[in-house]
Amino acid sequence: MSRQAYVNGQFVPHGQAVVHIEDRGYQLADGVYEVWAVFGGKLSDAEGHFTRLWRSLDELRIDHPMSRKALEVVLKETLRRNRVREGLLYLQVSRGVARRDHAFPTDPVAPSLVITAKSLNRAATNAKAEAGVGVITLPENRWGRCDIKTVGLLPNVLAKQAAREQGGAEAWFVDADGLVTEGASSNAWILRKDGVLVTRDTGANILRGITRHSLLDVIAKAGLKVEERAFTPGEALEAQEAFITGAGALVTPVISIDGKPIANGHPGEMALRLRGLYIQHAQNAGI
Ligand code: PMP
Repeated sequence: MSRQAYVNGQFVPHGQAVVHIEDRGYQLADGVYEVWAVFGGKLSDAEGHFTRLWRSLDELRIDHPMSRKALEVVLKETLRRNRVREGLLYLQVSRGVARRDHAFPTDPVAPSLVITAKSLNRAATNAKAEAGVGVITLPENRWGRCDIKTVGLLPNVLAKQAAREQGGAEAWFVDADGLVTEGASSNAWILRKDGVLVTRDTGANILRGITRHSLLDVIAKAGLKVEERAFTPGEALEAQEAFITGAGALVTPVISIDGKPIANGHPGEMALRLRGLYIQHAQNAGI
């Protein structure tokens, strides 16, 4: 069966799914998005993603496209129609279609809602992730509201591309104080040599990753030590391990920073253990 996308109230063949040229998401990046990991046909960490979506919309004063319950039905229908058991579910809401003007439309317009789903070969993505990835560091050049999950991702796009061109898979932004904020599409973590895990606190200008949040619960249940605070690329290079988290990356070991190996340059045991524990959580807690 061919892929289908949900666009403003209708399921349409993926190849013919379009939005208007004056959609404010398209012209002004005036929109937000969410991504759920899908395990066994269920949305993992569903509640966290719904809550963050509502918060992102409210922060930007974009109307909710539908109720939480109705949205859940449409998301699940998107999975069903695309036969996605293992994969990713993408949702985007923009402020809607209006004659181009920077300020909000004066006559109310309905927000635009787009949902797509894609299947992943879990065995292949696991094998790739478990081999670990290299990251590069780049000066933080994003706006001051990275806590809102907006589609304004140009700095993230350029950072990822730079990483790819330098043989890496992710870029870590480093702020004006020389501290790592987060990855272009993931949160950043290290495991210190004394066994303490460290990830940037959410008081910083970062996205409050849902995977990060769930992993903190997993870490607490496993009785491991964690500190939510800033760290430098130098501290990361001195660390025992590093890894990234996100709905796409899940937990992925980082094996080098700017071409320099972390520890022995192999994926860390803790990162792999946490990946396993997170996947177990995701498999059990989906809706
Ligand atoms: N930071 C950024 C900038 C991201 O784009 C993402 C992925 N959406 C994350 C962190 C991780 O967030 P989550 O765990 O909710 O996917």
